[in-house]
Amino acid sequence: MTTAGTAAHDSRLPVQNPATGEVFDHVPRCTADALAGIVARARDALRDWSRRTEADRRRQLLACGAALSRHVDELAGLLTREQGKPLAGARAEVALAVDWFRHTAALTLATEPLVDEPTAQIVMDRVPYGVVAAIAPSNYPIILAVTKIAPALLAGNTVVLKPSPMTPLSSLLLADILAGVLPPGVLTAVAGDAELGQALVGHPDVALVSFTGSVEVGRAIAGAAAGRFAHTVLELGGNDPCIILPDTDVTQIAEQVFWRAMRNSGQFCAAVKRVYVPQARRHELVEALSSLADKAVVGDGMDAGTQLGPLVSRQLADRVAGLVEDARIHGATVHRAATATRQGGHFHRPTIVSDLPAGTDLELTEQFGPVIPVISYTDLADAVARANATQYGLGASVWGDPGAARAVADELDCGTVWINDHGDLRHDVPFGGTRCSGLGVEYGYWGLLEYTRIKVTSVKG
Ligand code: NAD
Repeated sequence: MTTAGTAAHDSRLPVQNPATGEVFDHVPRCTADALAGIVARARDALRDWSRRTEADRRRQLLACGAALSRHVDELAGLLTREQGKPLAGARAEVALAVDWFRHTAALTLATEPLVDEPTAQIVMDRVPYGVVAAIAPSNYPIILAVTKIAPALLAGNTVVLKPSPMTPLSSLLLADILAGVLPPGVLTAVAGDAELGQALVGHPDVALVSFTGSVEVGRAIAGAAAGRFAHTVLELGGNDPCIILPDTDVTQIAEQVFWRAMRNSGQFCAAVKRVYVPQARRHELVEALSSLADKAVVGDGMDAGTQLGPLVSRQLADRVAGLVEDARIHGATVHRAATATRQGGHFHRPTIVSDLPAGTDLELTEQFGPVIPVISYTDLADAVARANATQYGLGASVWGDPGAARAVADELDCGTVWINDHGDLRHDVPFGGTRCSGLGVEYGYWGLLEYTRIKVTSVKG
């Protein structure tokens, strides 16, 4: 694997296959010296890249998408081996990244006339910040890198990408492919862990940090960037509630709710992470979800037919198991799917947890695994209050009659509420969290604006 900057790298970062727990490859770890050189090259590349026309940068984005489209299978294979997701999902992720370049290239940042008087003309432009640090998480390494790279580049910034140390291979290959299209220094990927991320965020020449990851790391990044007033876009964790209204046929929606919770084995920021169901419907729903859990095919993402792969790390699998066990100790009923899992990998069987007493960690914190806590309510207002009573505010959903659901949606304090759906993210709709789930938005024109600052030019005479 060759990547810009690797010549000066020293020790190696091991990469595990989460389906087996075995280390199957290593990547060069980026050193502090190498990072300084890479950021300096990104800063130098800005001079030319930021002065190009938008039309030229748009052509380059289209070329990036075309280059990526020639490597879908190669990238998807790496993604499955290092992240664990089923191969079909990995292919879909890379295909979405290809499309994302195309969609982003269709956006435009026009100069806006603000004042047009006989003796004064004032216009507003959207100009790039400079060098962007794009720090990505382990769950969707390719698409979550591209949703940063494409708008940052279109706006005229250059980018240093730092993927998760658990999933660096596909991101380094992505950067290699794109480096074949882009001018030198415009995009470079660096591999390393939290220490490298800290060095990148603290670098004086990094003007904007675009981060997707956990609340805890987001908080550390916000603190580090604040000292020098670097702009941040923070897309953080979620603990999305799903509220099922009284009079909703739970057997009809159970399958949709199940898969909106289990996507990528629950490793999805906007997955359903807790379900509030009327007490009278609780039994029916738990039965239906448990039966779906029993039928789900868990296994190595490389095996045909696998629906749910392993969790990305042993640490995450242990954390999820710990949250379920804690709920059980506090009186919850745990239904673990009968499905067999392979020894050695970081697997967690799909699990339905019911009869949760109020305030367990499983209800209040983001679990990020294939677990559905089902919480019953007798008073809808109480369910809404519990849905809002965590530090998170990413997404939420309400299931039932659309009119009645809209009234409940208005009471939910989060970035997106879906009605009769959950977690449907689109290239043309902004996405972001409130409270501890983040700052700013990504996607579409509104996401593009985050990679620009306002510059006003005022002409007299
Ligand atoms: P994580 O926060 O552990 O790591 C994310 C990235 O931050 C990694 O590249 C990591 O190396 C880096 N990092 C760690 N410490 C750092 C520091 N001090 N300074 C700079 N960088 C540092 O997240 P993860 O486990 O990879 O991903 C899962 C989390 O991401 C979940 O909480 C999930 O909800 C969230 N997420 C949010 C969104 C969203 O759009 N809101 C999307 C996907 C994932």
